[in-house]
Amino acid sequence: MSDPDALKSPSLATKTMMLSRKLLSMSAVTLTAACSTPVTTTNSPAQTDFLAANMDPSVNPGQDFFTYANGGWLKRNPIPNTESAWGIGNVVREQLYLNLRSINEQSAASPAAPGSDAQKIGDFWATAMDTAKAERLGIHPLDGELARIAAIRNVNDALDVAFAQNPIQVGPFFSFYVYQDERKSDMMSVHLSQGGLGLPDRDFYVNPDTGVAHIRDEYVAHMARTLKELGRDDAASKTAAANVMAFETALAKASRKLEDLRDPVANYNKMTPAQLTSKYTPSINWADRLAVWNLHPDSVVVGQPEFFTALESLLHSTPVPVLQDYLRFQLITSYAPYLGNAQYNERFSFYNRVLNGQKEPRLRWKRVLDAEGDAMGMVLGRIFVKEYFGPVAKKRYADMVEAIRTAYRDRINQLDWMSDSTKARALQKLAAVYPKVGYPDKWKDFSTLVVARNSYAENMMNAARWGFNDMISKFGKPVDRAEWGMTPQTYNAYYNPSNNEIVLPAAIFTVPGVPDAQVDDAVAYGYAAAGTIGHEITHGFDDEGRQFDAVGNLTDWWTTRDATKFQARADVMARQFDAYEPMPGLHINGKASLGENIADYGGVLLGLDAFKKTDQYKEGKPIGGLTPVQRYFLGYALGWMSQQRDESLRRGLLSDVHAPAKWRVLGPLANIPEFYAAFGVQPGQPMYRPDSLRVRIW
Ligand SMILES: [Zn+2]
Repeated sequence: MSDPDALKSPSLATKTMMLSRKLLSMSAVTLTAACSTPVTTTNSPAQTDFLAANMDPSVNPGQDFFTYANGGWLKRNPIPNTESAWGIGNVVREQLYLNLRSINEQSAASPAAPGSDAQKIGDFWATAMDTAKAERLGIHPLDGELARIAAIRNVNDALDVAFAQNPIQVGPFFSFYVYQDERKSDMMSVHLSQGGLGLPDRDFYVNPDTGVAHIRDEYVAHMARTLKELGRDDAASKTAAANVMAFETALAKASRKLEDLRDPVANYNKMTPAQLTSKYTPSINWADRLAVWNLHPDSVVVGQPEFFTALESLLHSTPVPVLQDYLRFQLITSYAPYLGNAQYNERFSFYNRVLNGQKEPRLRWKRVLDAEGDAMGMVLGRIFVKEYFGPVAKKRYADMVEAIRTAYRDRINQLDWMSDSTKARALQKLAAVYPKVGYPDKWKDFSTLVVARNSYAENMMNAARWGFNDMISKFGKPVDRAEWGMTPQTYNAYYNPSNNEIVLPAAIFTVPGVPDAQVDDAVAYGYAAAGTIGHEITHGFDDEGRQFDAVGNLTDWWTTRDATKFQARADVMARQFDAYEPMPGLHINGKASLGENIADYGGVLLGLDAFKKTDQYKEGKPIGGLTPVQRYFLGYALGWMSQQRDESLRRGLLSDVHAPAKWRVLGPLANIPEFYAAFGVQPGQPMYRPDSLRVRIW
């Protein structure tokens, strides 16, 4: 639920397995606003270059390269009231919204064959935009589910409800998904892991920081108001909320920390469903429960067995009415965005305002497009790429992937700390990295998804069930390695260790306001080759990704000595980020963000190596007064041109494995010798790190 407006969908859940470039929750939701200034402003002759227009030349690059590179744009583009963060991804998305809106309006206005994409898009839009209908229905679309909760008499009934709610993507008590088996990537396995929390991470329940304590108080108040809407008095709803909070806090305390979830070996515990039942959860007969979903697995992968032990005991020590209130809240909060204003506004007051600092709701039509993206984003994606990502751009970035692969190969060959045997395996894995560029070769078939004009919530519930069934249907079948876990219109990218693949949606290559052909190589290599392609490829070799082999299996292919040496070098990076303090008292979690920071660092190194082979680098001609290498680093910083509210920053520091945007520029660049040379960074300046403290992995 770190995702303020959207339903938790299986496609989103499976992404926790993947190592993405950006904040996942940004991909679908926070990237919208009412107005924006294009990245390029060309009102003064000295600023005709699109990079120069973004910069703040009054800042010394050795002082704060992020602000030097992006400060001009950030000053001219304050965060709109409807947003918790604002940056380059938002601008890309704004363009997309306008386009998608016209597609939706046209589809809604013209009759289309039942079951066609146009019918689905048109009916989804017309129903979701019908505010009068949403008001009339209020919370009633949930009546059936609420009645089921009201009928609960014991723990077993509560479990019945939990298992019935999973298919509509409400995930009480624990998390469930069908995904590739980490140790046998050609097989799908049932995964069960910790979950069931209403706050974004376990740390929110236990962190003593006063800002976090305030969020807890606000969360309880929000739960109380939500439960009061169901017709209780003030005192009863407050007591109910406090009890639910106690239950969730106990779940949180039994949950592993963010950094501990990044150990793929410790979070892989395979057992039979019968073993899980007898050893950990005698109250949950997993074989029977999974059979209701048509799943009959020989084994399940349990992420955190001790969590299930705690869940078992909590289910019995918690009074049934508290379990009911917990389930009610989980249900309502998941569907509030698709109900009446009262439900939406209540949810907004906590998840958007308190947790993310957003001051006002975003315009409804943009929220509807986000929801539509969650429900059937690939249907829209097929239309999107026709217009936005032609064969020339696709080839440019597919070639860039190979340039990065070559650069990485050369670097691995030259490493003085890695043995020849580990090098041979690393090169084998690198050669096998599979790139997916732009959009899927084969589009997912949505023909069985039913979209009608009954209600917004019903359409979302149908889409959730469709997604759930689609996930379940993969079990027992050969793994479809051609599938995409993100839509092409997503401003994000990911590495999937189980497929040893990098997935690069079309939208991520967009430099807003500048046609692709006009983006010079220096910027393109900094922005796309380093920031996205090099970043994702490096994930295959970061502290987590390196534990998977060329075909995506979790197997240790490192010699002990090489692994120890890698770890020592990675620890330098963890310490570097641990020392950053973006908010008073809240540091970056160096261990939790280690994989991302290694990926950023590797991306910058590889992008630069690849860029050095281009004509632009060799010719060395300045553009807009900037040398090719300077433009390269500025192009990298452009990818992180964004700002966020304090609330959103705090949420990220506690629950996101990515460092905040600014430190994703400051941190990696402070380890790159060419950066020092390009901008004359001197000892004593904040960006300067003495040689002995610089990270050297690749
Ligand atoms: Zn990443």
